[in-house]
Amino acid sequence: MTTSDEGDSESQSVRRDFGALWHPFTQMSEWSREDPLVIERGEGNALIDDQGRRYLDGVSSLWCNVHGHRHPKIDAAIRAQLDRVAHTTMLGLTHPGAAELAERLVGVAPNGLTRVFYSDAGATAVEIALKQAFQYFALRGETNRSRFVSLADAYHGDTIGAMSVGYSEAYHRHHRPLLFDTIRTTPPHVFRWERGLDPRAALQVAIDEARRTFEVHGDEVAALIVEPLVQGAAGIWPHPPEYLAELARLAKEAGALLICDEVATGFGRTGTMFACEQAGVEPDLMCLGKGLTGGYLPLAATLATEAIFEAFVAPYEELATFFHGHTFTGNPLGCAAALASLDVFDDEQTMAHVAEIVPLLHGRLDADVASLPQVGDVRRVGLMVGVELVQDRETRAHYEPALRVGYRASLAARKHGVIIRPLGDTVVLMPPLSITKDEIGQLVDATIAGIREVTGA
Ligand code: PMP
Repeated sequence: MTTSDEGDSESQSVRRDFGALWHPFTQMSEWSREDPLVIERGEGNALIDDQGRRYLDGVSSLWCNVHGHRHPKIDAAIRAQLDRVAHTTMLGLTHPGAAELAERLVGVAPNGLTRVFYSDAGATAVEIALKQAFQYFALRGETNRSRFVSLADAYHGDTIGAMSVGYSEAYHRHHRPLLFDTIRTTPPHVFRWERGLDPRAALQVAIDEARRTFEVHGDEVAALIVEPLVQGAAGIWPHPPEYLAELARLAKEAGALLICDEVATGFGRTGTMFACEQAGVEPDLMCLGKGLTGGYLPLAATLATEAIFEAFVAPYEELATFFHGHTFTGNPLGCAAALASLDVFDDEQTMAHVAEIVPLLHGRLDADVASLPQVGDVRRVGLMVGVELVQDRETRAHYEPALRVGYRASLAARKHGVIIRPLGDTVVLMPPLSITKDEIGQLVDATIAGIREVTGA
């Protein structure tokens, strides 16, 4: 440890952390053996630690940062809001930011979504969509529509309802008895699940399974929930737009609702403002979080069609009200950040920038990463990338989990000035949309160095 003031403050932070903190998704026995990075500041696409070292934020601070850190326009908007009020409730009151943002979100969202219900996290946006779908059918007297269809290995958040429509062998192990029963259908994941099939054949197998699912269960389904185009936390598993379009068609044909969980894919991450646009799909409910505020503050939203909204509009005594709301729902600081973030999309032509940098990123991945001896698969849609490390490229055999290869490769990349975080043995890259061409080079070079160091390639 250094004896400088900064060093002292670092060790004090670490001491306090080790003494009093419990980190999310973290095995604390490993954490307490590490030398944690203490982030003090952010600047553009970089995070800066308490020793003054700069790191490229290669996973957008858990997939949420959009325009970089400390963006002057978003900072100013939050400061200006702070001079008005930091928080006021949406239960029985409204405020200008929430109202303006709702109108703006309806303006950028896919057609048909006309109502915005705020909350404060991706998981709560999902809970709300599930409860709205369920209550919608209950209010219509269709009480048989009480189940949900979701994709194998889906991830929709960590609360009980969101977990119930998700699936993870590791994450759900101890809570399975608490989860409600969900109908699963398997997406066309060529590398692992449909081995031996080419993408076309795998797509057909997946569509056939979805079709059978709706044939058997169609009239008991309230909604199909899907992460459009990319299943993120499952390991960055893309599916073709045709699959999403067919799922949407099957749900509609069965009289069920379609919920698009755009918490991770929304706000430009896949190359369009929302991923479902690429399949020409118009969901009945859409969940937004993460990038909604530019990745600044905890604000989320569930967007609904007018038809769903209207089913809840009735005299009070009928108890059709949607009795759901969190304390910080529609927080004014979050709304101010979100409005400023939408302005930045226009001012900086963010999506045009994304269109320019995505081919560059994909080109580097194809040219320099896919060929590394221990890289089994490079999966990417827009700025969402998963590099799966395998012990054997031919057999696609996994590494022993105890080797923690993905984790160690990500830590090794840190020495090259880049912060990334894996999902199992899949190294995830998900930079802010504002990443520059030079920074893409840095991101890919550090990833290669990290993988080489750990796999001995
Ligand atoms: N849905 C998806 C698709 C996600 O990727 C996530 C988080 N990674 C969530 C929901 C949950 O969001 P939060 O962590 O904000 O609750």
